[in-house]
Amino acid sequence: MKAIEEAWREFNKNFQSEKDCVEKLWSKLAESNQICKHCKSGALINQPGERALHCSRCPRKSWFTAGTYFHRIRKLRPWLAAIWFLEKGIIINSNEFSKLLEVSYDTAFRIFKKLSTALKNKGNIAGELIDSSYFLSLFSKRSTRTPALEHPSSEEKAYCQTVEKSAAESRKEQPQEREGDILLAAEKNLILITLNSSPAPIQFDELQELTKLSTGTLSAALILLELDGNISSPSRDSYSISEQTTLQSNESKTQIDQELFHSFLQFVRSTFQGISRKYLQNYLYTFACQIQNSLHKEGTILETCLSQNPINYKEIISYVSPKQVLFPQKY
Ligand SMILES: [Zn+2]
Repeated sequence: MKAIEEAWREFNKNFQSEKDCVEKLWSKLAESNQICKHCKSGALINQPGERALHCSRCPRKSWFTAGTYFHRIRKLRPWLAAIWFLEKGIIINSNEFSKLLEVSYDTAFRIFKKLSTALKNKGNIAGELIDSSYFLSLFSKRSTRTPALEHPSSEEKAYCQTVEKSAAESRKEQPQEREGDILLAAEKNLILITLNSSPAPIQFDELQELTKLSTGTLSAALILLELDGNISSPSRDSYSISEQTTLQSNESKTQIDQELFHSFLQFVRSTFQGISRKYLQNYLYTFACQIQNSLHKEGTILETCLSQNPINYKEIISYVSPKQVLFPQKY
């Protein structure tokens, strides 16, 4: 909490008003040869703290944020504050942020989604690709992709089925009846990752508490894992991971950093309580801001934003995290 307060105090000292924020952005964008949007003249006059540039030739107004990442953004201050926090590796949820900056929850939500999208589009975050089903226990918030009347975690299964179906269609095959397989693949991953984090065998009840799976599903998944030789049951009702079972990232076959994986789970639970499957990749990029030192430099994230075209909110609404998500590395 102290880090947030300190960063907030510092931000207020540097950016007291909207004008200070406009000045900051102007100092970053002035170098990129501004020309009049109407007559293409370079004879533009900038008034300190104003976004409008006055052309001394035609004489009309141009906005220097037009066509940039900050296109049509009314107030810059909440944006610069969010970037300020991220560049310090401080992550706060939209609810806290909306109170701090006195903006609506919706505005705060959009700001963070747009910022994580900028990082995603830039594509310079290092990490490993891993299957989204490893994160099943975090999916406790609904999204537009959550099947009606079902728990938010069912979005994982629904997404797998969509992917399977379109893959089958592209192979010009009938979609196979593999519902059971697909469903349990996610649960099996979740059980493996949970068992792997524990040095001692875990009792059924405890496993259920940790994975939040129903008794029937957990029993079925455990039977399959035992048959595959992935887990063993050293005593009645207790389970541990088999020695030869390694948890791997799908592409590079390198091992996932278990400690980092669990700190991500912890990060999501403590900061956001839970997330939707749809935006998993956005939260992984937000987590990258916390753990990757290369991002903890003033201007890094702001420059990432300024190097991009405006991001349409429709792009954010229609985004769905892929099956293989990028899990950031720590460095
Ligand atoms: Zn002009």
